[in-house]
Amino acid sequence: MRKKVIAGNWKMNLTLEEGVSLASEVVNIAKDELTSDVTMVLCTPAIHMAAVSKLTAEVANVHVGAQNISEHESGAYTGDISADMALSTGAEFVIIGHSERREYHFETNAQLAARVELALAKGLTPLFCCGESLETREAGDHVSFVTKQLEESLYQLSAEQMEKVVIAYEPIWAIGTGVTASTEQAQEMHKSIREALASKFGAEVAEKISILYGGSMKPGNAPELLAQPDVDGGLIGGASLKSRDFIDIAKSY
Ligand code: PEP
Repeated sequence: MRKKVIAGNWKMNLTLEEGVSLASEVVNIAKDELTSDVTMVLCTPAIHMAAVSKLTAEVANVHVGAQNISEHESGAYTGDISADMALSTGAEFVIIGHSERREYHFETNAQLAARVELALAKGLTPLFCCGESLETREAGDHVSFVTKQLEESLYQLSAEQMEKVVIAYEPIWAIGTGVTASTEQAQEMHKSIREALASKFGAEVAEKISILYGGSMKPGNAPELLAQPDVDGGLIGGASLKSRDFIDIAKSY
């Protein structure tokens, strides 16, 4: 059975105090209400990770993730955080290649390939993001575009490494816009991602990889999206900033 993952991406929101308060709400509600085998991840800003890790340590299925790491081990890279730094806070996951990082920080597929490898080598689980723009979708090139992102950032991995990666399909036109991909659009893309992984790494490996959907997922649309056979969870931005909504999405399973 594939791991079900509900990950929240807080992006650049919340002061440390506000973040600790949100995390403690999530942890407390999760303790009382979360009965399913869903893995929840809070991808907080770097400055929140250590404090939030202390809170999530109280509950088995809530974890902390970083929003990015450097492809370098350490050194003169002002403003970046390393895999070791993330690990030292208690983080177990890391988002790699979010579309906002690709767009505003010009992250390339090759750079992301190096980050995925470093994360795996250090024992962090990469949440690797892929997804097309509206222009690419309207041109009918979404499948080939996303396949190229996978090829250029993940195909250098061994099958053993690939099994440890979680993929998040996030159509850029659905992120933070309130527009969600239809269940058919999400399932079509998730299935084609799994087929691409099967042709490179083998069907057995592809069947084990969790593929999350991201793009305006909310308690109202989560049940239908999460019911799709190739949708194994969600990467949630806006709705992860409200403890009730975030937990309700996780409880949709
Ligand atoms: C995201 O940023 O990963 C995301 C999916 O955001 P939102 O849920 O706000 O669309």
